[in-house]
Amino acid sequence: MIILIWLALCLVVAILAAKRDRNPIGWALLALVLSPVVAGIILLVLGEGRTARCMYCAERIKETARICPHCQREHRSPIVDVTPRREA
Ligand SMILES: [Zn+2]
Repeated sequence: MIILIWLALCLVVAILAAKRDRNPIGWALLALVLSPVVAGIILLVLGEGRTARCMYCAERIKETARICPHCQREHRSPIVDVTPRREA
């Protein structure tokens, strides 16, 4: 019975990972090996994927974004500035 709960929690971690733009299979395996609770906490601490600054409006957007959700301008190449800088 506890194995079923464990597997269900691994599935939850995989879904959360997919929603956060991360590899769901990798995270499910990590949850399976470590613990779904530990993997879930790591996932929450890491937050949403890597972010970069839009070169047009300077808002934070996903590194993989092609169209900025703030100014709607298109980025042709992957965004280069990925320094995780804290706001002063
Ligand atoms: Zn923008």
